[in-house]
Amino acid sequence: MTKPTTNNVGIPVASDNDSLTLGANGPILLQDHYLIEKNAHFNRERVPERVVHAKGGGAFGFLEVTEDVSQFTKAAVFQPGTRTESLIRFSSVAGENGSPDTWRDPRGFAVKLYTTQGNYDIVGNNTPVFFIRDPIKFPDFIHSQKRRADNHLRDHNIQWDFWTLRPESAHQVTWLMGDRGIPSNWREMDGFGSHTYLWENAGGEKFWVKYHFKTDQGIGYLTQADADRIAGEDADYYIRDLWTAIERGDHPSWTLYVQVMPYEEAADYRFNPFDLTKVWPHGDYPLIKVGRYVLDRNPSNYFAEIEQAAFSPANMVPGIGPSPDKMLQGRLFAYPDAHRYRIGANFAQLPVNAPKSPVNSYSRDGAMRYQNPGDPVYAPNSFGGPHADAAYAGETVSSYGVVDEVIRSAYRLHAEDDDFGQAGTLVRKVMDAAQRERLASNIIGHAKKGVSEPVLERVFEYWRNVDKTLGDKVAEAFGK
Ligand code: NDP
Repeated sequence: MTKPTTNNVGIPVASDNDSLTLGANGPILLQDHYLIEKNAHFNRERVPERVVHAKGGGAFGFLEVTEDVSQFTKAAVFQPGTRTESLIRFSSVAGENGSPDTWRDPRGFAVKLYTTQGNYDIVGNNTPVFFIRDPIKFPDFIHSQKRRADNHLRDHNIQWDFWTLRPESAHQVTWLMGDRGIPSNWREMDGFGSHTYLWENAGGEKFWVKYHFKTDQGIGYLTQADADRIAGEDADYYIRDLWTAIERGDHPSWTLYVQVMPYEEAADYRFNPFDLTKVWPHGDYPLIKVGRYVLDRNPSNYFAEIEQAAFSPANMVPGIGPSPDKMLQGRLFAYPDAHRYRIGANFAQLPVNAPKSPVNSYSRDGAMRYQNPGDPVYAPNSFGGPHADAAYAGETVSSYGVVDEVIRSAYRLHAEDDDFGQAGTLVRKVMDAAQRERLASNIIGHAKKGVSEPVLERVFEYWRNVDKTLGDKVAEAFGK
């Protein structure tokens, strides 16, 4: 016998066919509380979609530390041989939930590690850099990439208007317009922590680090033409690819590396090491292997485990701390704030977000709370409640550059800081001739979709600043 249907409190229901009515043709009775529950609940099935990174998919797996990086961090999750369960969520940034996976956009690469010291989240992208370097610009940036107020259309003219008025975007836009701006799927792309973080070892020595997840599947990309075609044929192309790969036992993996900068070198490094529009060239800080990251399990319920997954760069465990990267500082606030709004104040109690280690918090009550601490309800107390212990917490913080005045200012410039240098390096030294050809074609194709004066003239200037030959080529395509 199949299971009898019940309502939400377990009471058997009589029908999913017919509402209670007064006679076959009569009005529906208010006493049909099951009809009301069913439709009222349906009206409440959605939580607000993420304002960025709305479209995504994810999977579970683990991080296994195969090397010894304990000289750089005391974090339990990175000690030799440690294996930690993990959740990842991949996403696109600007499109809404339901938008085609193959639109040109950075991809989110958000990793949650359920460590013995609480959850550690590395909430990055498939690119090592970002469009802006100060979070006060973030809402303006995203508004320019999403929809206009009047006609609800996305508009390349406003995208280029913002980018060219904010030349710090040049490195990320060059990356975006290149081959890696449309990965072939989520498995065949790298992930980056993007920000600089602080590591501290057991002896109290501090280091700056950047995370690199290098795909073991090899890099894959889609041409603009293929991506456009696939967008029409299968909007969920990436979700399907990841799901089916894991279902057939083809478990994708990444090799995790870090770049490590001794703490003192930050002050005089040739680039500002905290500026999110910059990479640390590998020649200066080579990749140091940490371990392997594997995805081996699909979610069993998309909404519960992926849509409600809540990642935060503020989830840092002992041995890991923030850097003065202004974008990171902004995100430390923004992510938990978004979760409280989107899912509710008790989002951390949902199974996918809850740590596997004990929670001894004085947070209590609020909507949808179901595991509530008992007495004592305050700290400090004389009744055996948990107490904060600085030595046990081993908090990793830095006093880097804090003796200063309160001002509004751009970063202090380092010797080689500018907006265009590293973008130019990417074009001239990393890309080959065929890649440069596709880069130019992608830029021209994008700008030909609705970019007009005065923005257009700035587009030529922007690309001439990145690379003169490239800029001239873009201008030529417009007869300039
Ligand atoms: P390297 O020659 O040591 O490294 C070049 C990097 O560029 C590699 O990570 C490579 O990835 C990546 N790459 C190759 N093709 C593309 C592409 N079409 N779009 C984006 N990235 C690509 O150089 P440096 O470290 O000195 O950096 C030079 C430039 O490379 C930087 O200005 C930056 O634009 C780019 N880059 C640098 C990274 C870094 O962390 N240093 C990371 C990613 C890009 P792979 O090894 O998988 O081929």
